[in-house]
Amino acid sequence: MLTLEELEEYAFLNHIPIMLKDGIEYLTRYIKENSVTTILEIGTAIGYSSIKMALVDPKIEIVTIERDLKRYEEALKNVQSFGLGNQITILYEDALNTTLDKKFDLIFIDAAKSQYIKFFEKFKNNLNESGTIVSDNLLFHGLVSKKEEIESKNLRQLVKKIDQYVTFLKENQEFDTEFLEIGDGLGISKYKNNKINEKGEK
Ligand code: SAH
Ligand code: MG
Repeated sequence: MLTLEELEEYAFLNHIPIMLKDGIEYLTRYIKENSVTTILEIGTAIGYSSIKMALVDPKIEIVTIERDLKRYEEALKNVQSFGLGNQITILYEDALNTTLDKKFDLIFIDAAKSQYIKFFEKFKNNLNESGTIVSDNLLFHGLVSKKEEIESKNLRQLVKKIDQYVTFLKENQEFDTEFLEIGDGLGISKYKNNKINEKGEK
């Protein structure tokens, strides 16, 4: 039987970017306080955040997507080890090729940063009207605020992508986003109130 500390240690030693402690604490508290029961996660890695979220309540059901075979297999193993196979479904796929009919209370975007706008546009169709989209890594280790100093071109490109995503969220006509300097930076997006008219229709 594995422990959460062992997963954290494994992720640290193998450079797997699992959520930072205060980020995952905020997210699990949010799930509890808002009675979230259905969750879609983009970016499983080794299953750490899925396991943390599933442990909030046995009623919680999670679908999580991972495109890397090795990580997918490790996630499967870890989820089994925690006995959470009934709550967590892991899909081995590129999320951009995944089609889901189901709607979720919460969608957690924590995958390739260059594709965040695409993930958001695609999966907002799977969000319940009163649901929340949470995006991780919007501070990107603080690099977003000092992009002029970055020497690597790839890194600069990535930071630019996150910057564009933040602008996309700020200017979004459908969603309001709260930006939190918690963990590596979280965006909490919800449909604007005016989405529902007096008749309660969209
Ligand atoms: N949520 C995890 C960490 C995810 S790290 C946790 O906190 O425990 C990001 C993961 O997203 C990586 O494992 C990477 O392989 C995966 N990923 C990146 N782009 C993806 C895509 N387009 N579809 C599915 N998975 C993707
Ligand atoms: Mg992350």
